[in-house]
Amino acid sequence: MKQPISVLARLIDTLAPRSCTICGGRLTVTEEVVCACCNHNLPRTGYSKTAYDNRLVRLFWGRIPIEKGSAFFFYKPRSATSNLLYQLKYGGHPEIGERLGRIVAAELAQDGFFDGITALVPVPLARQREQERGYNQSVEIARGVSAETGIPVFDNVLKRITFHGSQTQKDRWERSENVEKAFRLLDSSAVSNQHLLLIDDVITSGATLVAAANELLKAVNVKVSVLSLGFADNDVT
Ligand SMILES: [Zn+2]
Repeated sequence: MKQPISVLARLIDTLAPRSCTICGGRLTVTEEVVCACCNHNLPRTGYSKTAYDNRLVRLFWGRIPIEKGSAFFFYKPRSATSNLLYQLKYGGHPEIGERLGRIVAAELAQDGFFDGITALVPVPLARQREQERGYNQSVEIARGVSAETGIPVFDNVLKRITFHGSQTQKDRWERSENVEKAFRLLDSSAVSNQHLLLIDDVITSGATLVAAANELLKAVNVKVSVLSLGFADNDVT
């Protein structure tokens, strides 16, 4: 759904030029978040073409019943994609998530990735963390996907239980798989008989999504698929 470029948009672009989140270069009026060159150079996974069997989906095999999955690009530390995700998560730029959500949805829709999906479930943040940050980046991504596909966002069906501690402690906590108790299903009737697409900004070990999916799967006749912007596939470096 491309929108026509309004006179107002052109005027705003002239008065307050926007810059590429990756290279810092000036964006043209038709570019969003990243310039055409950086967009072209994103290390895309291409997983939406084999959505039922790819390295991301295999990460979940034997842990949860998963329908299909994809990620927009491979995530590597200290790279263009890590900077992009950092700006989304910590840079106070929630709009990056919404715009990237629209971009990824438009691309993946070409492969029929959203066929059969009935609702989008962004991975919740603990309430305190969301208050500190002012937004939940996964909700922003889901909003963008919803705007492009028309699929509704269910952002009140899961709750994340607060964890008190530093980011480093949290990483250690997640690695230890204690994250499996981090979510609670709030509304099982809302998700019954749905094919849910769990949305997160980045997938590394998959532990967070396994925990969230296990809660959703407590409801009757639920299918779960996953989508993220970044995928840290440790074997592709
Ligand atoms: Zn750029």
